[in-house]
Amino acid sequence: MPGVRTLDLASRIGPELIALRRELHQIPELGLELPLTQQAVLEALAGLDLEVTTGTGLSSVVAVLRGRGGDRSADRPVVLLRGDMDALPVTEDLPLDHVSRHPGLMHACGHDLHVAGLVGAARILHELRDDLEGDVVFMFQPGEEGPGGAEPMVREGLLEVAGRPVDAAYALHVYSSEHPLGTWFGRPGPLMAASDEVGVRVVGAGGHGSQPFRAKDPIPVACEIVLALQTMVTRAFDVFDPVVITVGKFAGGTKDNIIPDDAVFEATVRSLSEEARAQVSRRIEQVATGIAEAHGLAVEVTHLPGYPVTVNDPDEYAFAKATIVDLFGEGRYTHQRDPEMGSEDFSFVGQLVPSAYVNLSACPVEDHEHAPDNHSPRADFDDSVVPDGAALLAELALRRLADLSSRRRRP
Ligand SMILES: [Zn+2]
Ligand SMILES: [Zn+2]
Repeated sequence: MPGVRTLDLASRIGPELIALRRELHQIPELGLELPLTQQAVLEALAGLDLEVTTGTGLSSVVAVLRGRGGDRSADRPVVLLRGDMDALPVTEDLPLDHVSRHPGLMHACGHDLHVAGLVGAARILHELRDDLEGDVVFMFQPGEEGPGGAEPMVREGLLEVAGRPVDAAYALHVYSSEHPLGTWFGRPGPLMAASDEVGVRVVGAGGHGSQPFRAKDPIPVACEIVLALQTMVTRAFDVFDPVVITVGKFAGGTKDNIIPDDAVFEATVRSLSEEARAQVSRRIEQVATGIAEAHGLAVEVTHLPGYPVTVNDPDEYAFAKATIVDLFGEGRYTHQRDPEMGSEDFSFVGQLVPSAYVNLSACPVEDHEHAPDNHSPRADFDDSVVPDGAALLAELALRRLADLSSRRRRP
């Protein structure tokens, strides 16, 4: 039976992994500096034969496990497994014994389950290291919810830490709603959007509200640009390669009878391909400049690039899905029809290494349709799925390393 050993080991250490998750749940931390979480990870990995390093510009943890199985030639494959560690500025509203002890902070996106699952994968693979035909890099990443920890970790040498480049990478995410507990879901190709920020400042000339012809009123011009952006999205982009622009902030002026000097707005821009992403930022600039000029005003457009598109490599995804079905049965997998317009900075790894990212429902209630979503103060995650997450990550590494090393042995 495939996967029996990983499932067995996962269920044996399950209670300890769940205890670790509950410990982490009480100490949520934000952003790139997560000292308590980092400490908990280091303690959980202590005693395992791993090469552990910590980040310089952020409190990441990277651990390398050297497999002792298969051919011992120099060109041994390397697989990366990732778990993000950060929490959110949300005040927890759940009646839990292990409720957050940090006021205003909560593991509302389930990253505490990811950390516990990745620790579990490290323990399982350590136990099975005589059969591991290559090396495994464990990536414990801060800052997924912002400002982004994956990119600095890549810059600090994550993908070369084993001495050879990473051949494939895997990650998973838990969800508190939408699917029955224990359901795995995902899709090949684009899975999550690129997320960028655009700021627009329309520069006019202030004056008296009663004499607009003597001023250059930036407010109607800014309004026109906001509406024209929506028209632009529907006319300039293929509906099958969608783009979303949402202006979430709009500001200008102080009083009804004063024309201000300028008006500003900020938009989030989502796209599902690098082509659409590049095109939308050019088009925004074009529309804003053209409209402002038509009215004799100027415009300043600033682009703040965020996370790239998260794309599941078709082969890696097919492999991950087959592994899920082998371990947990066909009934626990659901195909995800559409990508999500949310974003994820594992995409910085996915841009460089063929990778697969899968989702797992940790919804604790029967009525999954109406359960509070991730990021809600009432988002609740059933941590009984943590051992399953650990088993899947471990099995992906075991199988992929065996497969890659057998391909390399062939002439
Ligand atoms: Zn989140
Ligand atoms: Zn998340």
